[in-house]
Amino acid sequence: MKNEYMLSVLETVKKRNPGEPEFIQAVTEVFETLEPVIEKRPDLVKAGVLERLVEPDRQIVFRVPWVDDNGKVQVNRGFRIQYNDAIGPYKGGIRLHPSVYMGIIKFLGFEQIFKNSLTTLPMGGAKGGSDFDPKGKSDNEVMRFCQSFMSELYKHIGKDIDVPAGDIGTGAREIGYMFGMYKKLTGEWSGILTGKGIPYGGSLARTEATGYGLCYFTDEMLKANGKSFEGATVVISGSGNVAIYACQKATALGAKVVAMSDSNGYIHDPDGIDLAAVKQIKEVERKRIKEYVATHPNATYTEGCSGIWTIPCDIALPCATQNEINKESAEALAKNGCYAVSEGANMPSTPEAIEVYFANGMLYGPAKAANAGGVATSGLEMSQNSLRLSWSFEEVDEKLHGIMKNIFAACDSASKEYGMPGNYMAGANIAGFLKVAEAMKAQGCV
Ligand code: NDP
Repeated sequence: MKNEYMLSVLETVKKRNPGEPEFIQAVTEVFETLEPVIEKRPDLVKAGVLERLVEPDRQIVFRVPWVDDNGKVQVNRGFRIQYNDAIGPYKGGIRLHPSVYMGIIKFLGFEQIFKNSLTTLPMGGAKGGSDFDPKGKSDNEVMRFCQSFMSELYKHIGKDIDVPAGDIGTGAREIGYMFGMYKKLTGEWSGILTGKGIPYGGSLARTEATGYGLCYFTDEMLKANGKSFEGATVVISGSGNVAIYACQKATALGAKVVAMSDSNGYIHDPDGIDLAAVKQIKEVERKRIKEYVATHPNATYTEGCSGIWTIPCDIALPCATQNEINKESAEALAKNGCYAVSEGANMPSTPEAIEVYFANGMLYGPAKAANAGGVATSGLEMSQNSLRLSWSFEEVDEKLHGIMKNIFAACDSASKEYGMPGNYMAGANIAGFLKVAEAMKAQGCV
């Protein structure tokens, strides 16, 4: 990046946010691709759009005390970053994982602004979470944590203000407990959270949406470049919500998924992953993925996460967590003939890994476009709650499919318009940014 104005804004971001490398990485990546836009649009510079965009509207940090099953008081830290509401109420998930701190929530909130913009739905960007680890906790402990978390968060959210959702560690169980507490505290039934259970306002196909949407986007990207899922070998990291439904849809589109993982290690099944077995282990029994090999003798289990990228494949779908593919892993993928990486997780590729993709002519579907199907369907859940009606699975899936096709088309056309054809990362950043920037400019300096 050479633009002096952008470099100086980035410098301020670095100074103001010390010790938050993930946030700085996310801002740098976006800025690097926005340079041609900023050079063409002095009006956006005059309106201070970049300076305002990198500073969240507000950052809420709070204590979350709860009592464990032994009667001992535990204290976690809760976060909600309401990042930007230029185009709609704040919207973004809640991550429950021991690695959570301000820098993670801030990077996720920043990315969410552009992702939500790409969906074409009226949603601003936000993110929240806590360093609480639901793993190994009893249902009662998770419930007490969620109730305590919501007993503070409820003051800051509302169906037309900020609508949180799930993310790593926050699935239907956690959303249910949080929703129950919100309702009790406010006495109001409203679509305040998305990812709710079907009996109480959830949308059909929300559970599947991020994984399905990832495959719909990837399918468009492949087709536009003369490739297809049909007959392709696919590696998927993770075995959570996104990974499971990406595996299901990729298989339905004719691919063979041969590997999946969790935070301890990965399984490789050359016969194709038996998804029912993975779902049973991870969703029902809440056990480790290594259990898979006990019932699948042709499969192998390997400790550690990064080795999964050394398995030869045509398409890689990282669906676990940030920075899970580094330069070395990207080089292993390229060497083994992988021709497409499409991101289900948020920021799973390091900047060096992305350089390797481009240097090797691989197709690259960036997270903020490729995994936007989750939040898009959350937007559809909000619409259904407001309308007081429920659409069928097929209706929601069809709308999701249409949205993902449009997102790919927007990325493709912005990449061409700004002279970077095939660079869908640049296309996603530019298309997502322009809508928010126009809204911020129109609304004045607020
Ligand atoms: P889940 O909690 O359901 O699953 C996460 C999966 O990733 C688990 O298999 C987990 O393993 C694994 N994992 C977590 N941390 C690490 C780590 N440090 N190293 C290796 N593996 C890890 O989360 P989701 O599937 O919902 O989310 C996955 C990614 O997708 C995240 O980046 C999230 O932000 C992103 N995303 C999710 C959306 C959604 O709708 N759910 C929407 C858009 C993006 P283990 O079981 O051992 O914990």
